[in-house]
Formats: sequence, C-alpha cells, structure tokens
Amino acid sequence: MHRKTVRSEIKDFEPYTSGLSIAEIKKRYNLSTVIKMGSNENPLGTSPLVQKEIQRQADYCFRYPRPGSPELTKALSTHLGISQECIVIGNGSDELIDLLLRVKARPGLDNVVIFEPSFSLYRLQAKLCGLEIRKVPLNSDFSFAWDSLLKQTDQNTALVFLTNPDNPSGYATSKQQILKFSQKLPENCFLVLDEAYIDFTQDQDRFSPLSSDQYSEESKIVILRTFSKMYGLAGLRLGYGIMPAWLSDFLLRVKLPFSVNMLAEKAGLAALKDKEFFQLTKQTVLQERYYLHHEMEKLSCKVFSSQANFLMFQPPIEAKHVFESLLAKGIIIRPLQSYGLPKYLRVSVGNKQENRLFISSLEEVLHDKI
Ligand SMILES: *Cc1c(COP(=O)(O)O)cnc(C)c1O
Repeated sequence: MHRKTVRSEIKDFEPYTSGLSIAEIKKRYNLSTVIKMGSNENPLGTSPLVQKEIQRQADYCFRYPRPGSPELTKALSTHLGISQECIVIGNGSDELIDLLLRVKARPGLDNVVIFEPSFSLYRLQAKLCGLEIRKVPLNSDFSFAWDSLLKQTDQNTALVFLTNPDNPSGYATSKQQILKFSQKLPENCFLVLDEAYIDFTQDQDRFSPLSSDQYSEESKIVILRTFSKMYGLAGLRLGYGIMPAWLSDFLLRVKLPFSVNMLAEKAGLAALKDKEFFQLTKQTVLQERYYLHHEMEKLSCKVFSSQANFLMFQPPIEAKHVFESLLAKGIIIRPLQSYGLPKYLRVSVGNKQENRLFISSLEEVLHDKI
C-alpha cells in the first residue's frame, strides 16, 4: 500500500486552523494567567443552570442517547415556532455544514459558492466531498457583493453559503436582502444561512428571515444556528439546522445516530430555559462591544462595525507584531492569515475585566512601538 492511493482531494488537505488554547500559551510563555479572546466563546462562561443539569445527568452516562435528540428538537420547535419536522440537531453546526454538503451536492458534478473570505469549514468540507468551490470576493468594505455571488451560480450549484452576521468582519445584512437574493437563485440551489452570531444583533427581526412569515416549507433557505456562542456550550458541541421537512428527513437518515451526546442534549434543554443567562450575556456583549470599539479607535485602530460578539480591526502597526506581543502578555486574540487577511486581527468581546485588560495591554504594545 502507498500514500499515492489516497484520494487526490486528501493529499494536499489543510486542516482547520482553530484558536490557540489557554494551556498552550501558559506553557509557552510560563504565565500563570492567560485570557482567551480568540474563539468568540461566551464571556460569562457556562450557565449555572446548565452546570447543575450536567451534574444531575452524570449517573446516566452509561446509556446511549436517543438518535435525533427528540427532546431537544421538541423544545426548539416550541422555542422557535417552527415545526419539529424542519429541525435537525447536530454535533455543532459544523456537523450540519458537512451533512448538507454530503446530502445535497453530487461529487464531481456540483459546485458550491462562497464569499472570500468566509468561515473556512465551508470550503474544507466541500473539498472533502469532491465539489467545485467557487469563491466570490466580498466588497472592499466587507459588505456582501450580491450580484457577483449570483453570477457564480448555475444549474449545478447545490449550495451557496452565507454567514450573517459575518465572520470575521461582524458585518450584517438585512433579512429583506437575504430573501430577495434567495428568490433569484437557480431552481436546485439552497442558500445556507449560517446564523451562528444572530443572537448578538441589535434587533434580530431586522436580520433573520426566520422571524418573518416568509420562512416556509417552500423556502430555499436553510438556517444554521449554534449553542456554541450565546448559549456558552462550545465544548459540548451542539448546533441545529432549520430546513424544509423533506431535506431534514434525508439528513436524519444519513447522520451518525449518536453524534449528539446525551449531556449535550440535556445541556441544550437547560440552556434554553436559562433566560436570565441569555439576557445577561446579550447585555454584556452589546455594552462591551461598544466599549471595545471606541477604545480601540482611540488607539488609532481601524475598527469595523460589528453585530457579532467580536470585532475585526486593523492596528496602526503590523498586525502580526500586535498579535504576538499580546500573546506574550497572556492575551489570546485571533490573527486572520487563515482568512487571507494578514493585516487584520479579530478580538472576541470578553467580560468587563478582560476587555479592560485587553485595552491597557494593546495600548502598551502600540506605545512601545510608536
Ligand atoms: C463559531 C461558528 C460556528 C459554530 O460552529 P459550531 O460547530 O456550532 O461550534 C458556525 N459558523 C461560523 C461562521 C462560526 O463562526
């Protein structure tokens, strides 16, 4: 047997680049405290209700979970006002991206259309599936280039991926724009609308088509959401998709039966119940996003308006130097080379204390250099 016998798509496959971990950086710089503002995690940690529920469920880890996570599907159906048949729960929304590609797009025949830059998993999983990937540049201000996006689609376009609010810029478009675009798509094409950050928008009704009556069984939109950000369950892996019932039926048939574990399902149920934690997270992120934006501007950074729980910015000196200097001070943010944006950085909105520490450290780094 030989390496050469591996599928050609796999040979030059670049794995997903994730944010750095706290443990890694503590060890590398011999630091006792490190803060992580690199992966858009919840600034308040894990909901206390979720923590209690996980402790309560510890006795039952020897049991298999139920395929399809029916309890959580039902709770989400009530929570969203969407029929249960239209909801698929996955091991993070990552799993749904993968399932949609494998169910809908025909290897060697179909294409998927994405913006450049965009969340890398769309192109990585599409490549693994043997699909043609068509990349469309964003406008120079990081807004969406709708006409160019539409121009790249044809009868063999299976899926168009769109992140709203967008990662890494934080830009968000209106639901009217999304609906208008989806109606122009070729007959067999779905718009996959990744709403990982929708909970952090100023006014969700302005941005998500789910809240309007226009979302229906005939919809050409598949919506993806996650428990990783607002609900603080990134480590448990839980996300879901909302789509026409015929499509969700296929996804559930081919999905690995136990990909969503029992603790994740129970934690999701508890997270939906913890309205106080949701509100407190939202209030913290919106207030602190404003604080960070203005403080970074005062430090001569170019900061992009964001509807998400992170801010993209261009520092007045080399981004790589800023990233590395912050790292040495125990602050992890996100460099954007993997998005093809070496001049920019992304910082997640942390809690009050973290944000103030970030600003004072950034000030030191910039002053040391200027
Ligand atoms: C964080 C993020 C997700 C969430 O992924 P999970 O697998 O649910 O943790 C999805 N899409 C984008 C664009 C993200 O940034």
